[in-house]
Amino acid sequence: MSITTLNPATGELIESYQPYEAAQCDQILDEVVGAQHQWRRLDITERVAALRPLADVLRTNVDEYATLMTVEMGKPIEQAKAEVLKCAGCMDHFAEHGPRYLEPVDVPTSASRSGVRYLPIGVVLGVMPWNFPFWQALRFAIPTMVAGNGIVLKHASNVPGSALALERIVAATGVPEGLFRTVLLEGGDVLPLIDDPRIAGVSLTGSESVGRRIGAAAGAALKPAVLELGGSDPFIVLADADVQAAAQAASTARTQNNGQSCIAAKRFIVASEVHDEFVDAFVGAMSSLKVGDPIDSGTQLGPMARSDLRDELHEQVVQTAKGGGRVVLGGEVPDGPGAYYPASVVLDVEPGMVGFDEELFGPAGVVVRAGSEEEMVSLSNLSRYGLGSSVWSTDTDRALALGAQLENGLVFVNDFTRSDPAVPFGGVKASGYGRELGQQGILEFVNTQTTWVA
Ligand code: NAP
Repeated sequence: MSITTLNPATGELIESYQPYEAAQCDQILDEVVGAQHQWRRLDITERVAALRPLADVLRTNVDEYATLMTVEMGKPIEQAKAEVLKCAGCMDHFAEHGPRYLEPVDVPTSASRSGVRYLPIGVVLGVMPWNFPFWQALRFAIPTMVAGNGIVLKHASNVPGSALALERIVAATGVPEGLFRTVLLEGGDVLPLIDDPRIAGVSLTGSESVGRRIGAAAGAALKPAVLELGGSDPFIVLADADVQAAAQAASTARTQNNGQSCIAAKRFIVASEVHDEFVDAFVGAMSSLKVGDPIDSGTQLGPMARSDLRDELHEQVVQTAKGGGRVVLGGEVPDGPGAYYPASVVLDVEPGMVGFDEELFGPAGVVVRAGSEEEMVSLSNLSRYGLGSSVWSTDTDRALALGAQLENGLVFVNDFTRSDPAVPFGGVKASGYGRELGQQGILEFVNTQTTWVA
C-alpha cells in the first residue's frame, strides 16, 4: 500500500509514495554504515566544519521548508518558519559547543594517565513524529552526527515530503555521501531495523504506546534507546502570580502548533483565590485567536494534522464533559473541510476524568481548581506522565522550590515550556527516558571509553 499525504486544511491529496522494499532498506543501511566509517575517522573540528553549512541551507530555504511542513501537517506558516530557523540555531549551537561537550576528560587515579573519551557508536535509527517535522528530526540528528554517528530516519507517514527534504539538506553539506538517509516505511515496519546489527541505537519521539514497543525491541537487541514520549504538562498558577500574564501565556502554551506539542501546557492547575480571574482571561485569550488557513501569515490556530486525530480529541472532550467537566469554550467539531478543532476550555476538571488522566493532543485545555500549594503539587504529580511543567508566581524562589517537588523533566518559572539546544530536554515516568539537546543529549549515543595507562 502506498503512503498518501493529505493537506489537513483542505483534505486534498498532496502526494503518494511507495514504501521502501526490504532490499532498498538493506542497501541504504550499507550506505550509511560506509559513510559513517569515513565520518568517524575525522577529527571533531573537521566534522563540525563539514556539517555546519546545514544552518545556511536551512536559512536560505526557510520559506520552501516552512511551506512544505504547513501543507503536510497544518502548522501555521509563521510557526513553521520559526521552526526552520530554530533548527539552524541548533546547528550553530552544536558547531560551537559540540567539541567542548565531547572533549576528553583526565581523571586522576593510580595510573600514570587515565580519563574518559567519547567515541561514536555507529548508525543510529531515529523514529520521529509529525508534529515538528524538522525540529524533532534535527534536534536528534545534529548532535548525534556531530558525535560521529550516521543516521537512518524513519519519519511519520504524514510527512514523507519533509523526511526526504531533510535527507537532501544534509546531503548538501560537506558530510560523506549517505551519512543521513531517510527510509519511507509505515509504523511497525521499522521494528526489524532495530534488531539489525548495522543499527547501534534508536531514538524515538512519539506516543507512549509506540515507546513501549520500541523500548522493548531495543531492550531485546541490547541497544541504547532514547524515548521522548507524551505528556500532560501541568501549568500551575499560584495565588501570588501575575494572573493576566499567566493567562496570556497559557493560551499560547495550549494552542501553539495547533495544540499538538508534547510540552504544551495541558492541565491548568489554578489557586482558588485567582481561579475566576485566570479563567476569564484565559478564555478571552483562547477565543480571540485568529483561526484559519495555516498558509496565511496571520493565522494563529490552524487545523489539526489529521481528521482522525481531531475526532479522537473531540471524543476526549466529550468524555471529560460526561465525567463532570464544564465546557465553556469550543467543544464542537466545525462544519466544512479540513481537520479543524476550535480552541476549547473545560472547567471543574478533576482526577478520574479523561481530560485529567489522558494526554489531550490538540487545542483543548482543562482547568483544575486547587486549594493549597500541597494540593497543587499532588494534583500535578497525579499523572502517568512527567515531561514539562510551568509554575507562575511573583516569588521565583517559591516557584523553584515548588518545582523541585514536581515529577517532571523540565520546570519553567513564569514562562511556558520550550526546548532550547543549550539545555537538556526529556521526561520521567511514562514520558520516557534519556535526554536530547545540551551536553546530556549529545552524550546519549556515544561510547564513553575509559582510558588507563600503567
Ligand atoms: P506515534 O504514533 O507514536 O508515531 C511516532 C512515530 O512512530 C512515527 O514515525 C510512526 O510512524 C512510528 N510508529 C507508529 N507505530 C509504530 C510501531 N508499531 N512501531 C514502531 N514505530 C511506530 O506518535 P505521533 O502521533 O506521531 O506523535 C504524537 C505523540 O508524540 C504524542 O504523544 C506526543 O506527546 C509525542 N511527542 C513527544 C515529544 C517529546 O519530545 N517527548 C515530542 C513530540 C511529540 P507512522 O507515522 O508511519 O505510524
